[in-house]
Amino acid sequence: FEDINDALEMYKGDWKKVTGLLGGKGANLARMCAIGITVPSGFTISTECCNKYLELGNEFPEGMWDQALIALKKVEENTGKKIGDKKNPLLVSCRSGAAQSMPGMMDTVLNIGLNDETAKAMVELTNDERFVYDSYRRLVQGFGAIVLGIDDEKFEHPLGNYKKEKGFKFDNELKADNWKEVLELYNAVIKKEKGIEFPQDPMEQIKMSIKAVFSSWNVPRAIQYRERTGIPHTLGTAVNLQTMVFGNMGEEHSGTGVAFTRNPSNGKKEIFGEFLFNAQGEDVVAGIRNALPISALNDKLPKCYEQFIQECAKLENYFKEMQDVEFTIEQGKLYFLQTRNAKRTAVSRFKTMFDMVEEGLIDKKTAIKRISPSDVDMMLHPQFDPNVLKLAQKQGKLFATGVAASPGAAVGKMYFSSKKCVEMAKEGPVIMCRPFTKPDDVDGMFASKGLFTAEGGATSHAAVVARQFGIPCVVGCNVIIDEEKKTVTINGITLNEGDWVSIDGTTGSIYSAKIPTIQVKLEEQKHFMSILQWCDEFCSKEGIRDIKNGPSRGLMVWANADTAEDATRARSFGAQGIGLCRTEHQFLGDRAGILREFILTEDKDKKKEALDKLEVLQTKDFEELFIAMTDLPVVVRLIDPPLHEFLPDLLELTREVYELRGKGEKNEEKELMLKKAEQMHESNPMLGLRGVRLSIVLRQLVAMQTTAITQGAINAKKKGFNPVPEIMIPLVGHPNELKEIQPEVEEVSQNLLKKNNVEIEIKIGTMIEIPRACLVAPQLTKYAKFFSFGTNDLTQMTFGYSRDDAESGFLLKYVDNNILPNNPFKSVDQIGVGRLIKMCVDEGRESQPMMDVGVCGEHGGDPKSIKFFSEAGLTYVSCSAYRVPVARLSACHAIL
Ligand code: PEP
Ligand code: MG
Repeated sequence: FEDINDALEMYKGDWKKVTGLLGGKGANLARMCAIGITVPSGFTISTECCNKYLELGNEFPEGMWDQALIALKKVEENTGKKIGDKKNPLLVSCRSGAAQSMPGMMDTVLNIGLNDETAKAMVELTNDERFVYDSYRRLVQGFGAIVLGIDDEKFEHPLGNYKKEKGFKFDNELKADNWKEVLELYNAVIKKEKGIEFPQDPMEQIKMSIKAVFSSWNVPRAIQYRERTGIPHTLGTAVNLQTMVFGNMGEEHSGTGVAFTRNPSNGKKEIFGEFLFNAQGEDVVAGIRNALPISALNDKLPKCYEQFIQECAKLENYFKEMQDVEFTIEQGKLYFLQTRNAKRTAVSRFKTMFDMVEEGLIDKKTAIKRISPSDVDMMLHPQFDPNVLKLAQKQGKLFATGVAASPGAAVGKMYFSSKKCVEMAKEGPVIMCRPFTKPDDVDGMFASKGLFTAEGGATSHAAVVARQFGIPCVVGCNVIIDEEKKTVTINGITLNEGDWVSIDGTTGSIYSAKIPTIQVKLEEQKHFMSILQWCDEFCSKEGIRDIKNGPSRGLMVWANADTAEDATRARSFGAQGIGLCRTEHQFLGDRAGILREFILTEDKDKKKEALDKLEVLQTKDFEELFIAMTDLPVVVRLIDPPLHEFLPDLLELTREVYELRGKGEKNEEKELMLKKAEQMHESNPMLGLRGVRLSIVLRQLVAMQTTAITQGAINAKKKGFNPVPEIMIPLVGHPNELKEIQPEVEEVSQNLLKKNNVEIEIKIGTMIEIPRACLVAPQLTKYAKFFSFGTNDLTQMTFGYSRDDAESGFLLKYVDNNILPNNPFKSVDQIGVGRLIKMCVDEGRESQPMMDVGVCGEHGGDPKSIKFFSEAGLTYVSCSAYRVPVARLSACHAIL
């Protein structure tokens, strides 16, 4: 194509396809030409040619070289220079450029066209012998390394020796004659290593360079990079042949720079960049010399500066996105070498997108599409200082890796027990390290800046609680913890109690180093808040849920929260309801003892006393929760977890009792407790006495909890608030389970409402967590007014994988070995579990078309799963408060 618009026409305006053909760099260079930006004359050989070349076993496809020659002629006409000319030679660069950026992975050859003759001509033209022979030796070195495959060390070594011999320290001390001598050394290297002369024929240089760039698509580092980043191996690279321009032609009128059209750290609308006089491209990027701020250009070359600013504005207007440009000034003439969409911090991303909508450059949809879930995550959680992190990585301080369970970075001194963490947190930041966590560890978790565990997966206790409270967490690290010696070991490295560690819950990494963190102040981020508001507007009819009018256009986002404090946070992050209040989380701390008393005692009065105490406490909890969420629904789940979680640890209790017996002492209470704990012990607690089964077996709990929920709502209402409670019965597999419990819940709540003369609609629904429940959905709708998928248990039971153990055992190996495409506890398994979900939604809605159907498992905060849930027609996803903003964005992405 002569013009990029011809290519665009052929592909019916599809820029993605044009970029696929020309590569990112080639397509953007052509676009710059089309809008009149000064770009050094050149042409692009397509990715199709590269693929064909590789397919033919490293042969140019038919006709390619002829077309390249025609294009080269055009470049000669444009520049008035000629390849190999002895008076005015054309020098070119040969660069790779794939459709998706693969920085530094493939090859580039510069200064092509120089030989013994053209070098002399260049000296005549530039009057700078030193510059010319430095460029010439760079070509020989680059050509030798890249095209002929000679180890770069073979060139660096003789240069080092030469400098030492002559007493030079830096390259810029070498004069023209020195470079000429180095050139001879380099020619000798090629001769010695490959048995050939450096090709003097510029056409041969071009041909061989193109071939080398094509072949660099398949060098091991490029293949590895593609594997890591998911870039398909079939794309191929384009080759860009472009006239060389030189920023190193003197201190006065030449130089090179890189710039962003807006500030990449904070998004401010200002040109931000650096410039070096008398330098070539790589010098700025490599930071060899201290670069000057871009304004230095204004002082010395004001005309160039003005043109630069204008052309930057033109680029932004055309690409409708912030740009990152590379440019060179050759003897007072400005050239743009490259432009691309700029990488930036999350803060900058939100500000630039917001501003561009305000400026009328893009619409809201485009802005939202350009924001990724990880941008949102970065705003919510502390991140490591990138410079210190890099240093730590370089120094090999990565200690262990595991499942990234709760995002954000944290640093502190490491301790191994909950108690010690609480104690040491008074002195400074602490990180908790445990084999796994239990409800007893929660105090220590709250006191810690972050935690990591040896065992467990994305839905383990540690992961769920950490996510709920925004504590960075890595689980399943496979470290060996010696609680007695107070050490943690992996791969032969041991850390001791009190050592500094830094954990990254976003990537799942633990460092044995003290890496400082940086946190964005959200309340100052009006751009962040506004853009998420736009997301809600696209998703719903009126911005917030309209309970009476049923499902909105996209998913709503609710939160999993157990306390008023938690709910208030979730609401401030934009939650439109509470989809799961896990009541058992209200039984922590001292309250665990009361519940334990209820379970263990045989004495009826004591049982009643314990229940009454719990009822008072829970009523208050619910009242506060409903007040915090006034006007919005709050789904409260009846008690759910396996009973053993409330009982004393059987092993510990046995040891204690036997020790006492050994000393001849007998503690009646402990003896009774042991007897009871042994009776209640289950081999498979996750499949045992839990969920609705608990309500059926420990019947009094149902009335107590229903009373507390209803009374809490009544109290809130009496104080002038508008509570919207819903009661959810967990882990149902058979409709008869609901038939058994639902009427009692209904009766207790209705009686209480009547007695208080208060009208509140209290919906009763069920959780869908057992595959059988999905298969009998229509029968469940007789008793349930809403469904909520507990995808943690549903995944556990559909796959038959333990949610607590699989991820630290075989599951991640399954993923690594491609036995499973991904971890089904993180991203919902659409084919299997997803099919059950769809069937359940469709068949359930046949009997109750307006029924709310949500998700409250951990998948409710996962962007990929959210897309699936949106397409499956769900009403809402419910996730931990800190995931709410990500879920709002993802719910919007799902419908745009
Ligand atoms: C679930 O199983 O997905 C769920 C939300 O319940 P829990 O994690 O409390 O078992
Ligand atoms: Mg569950």
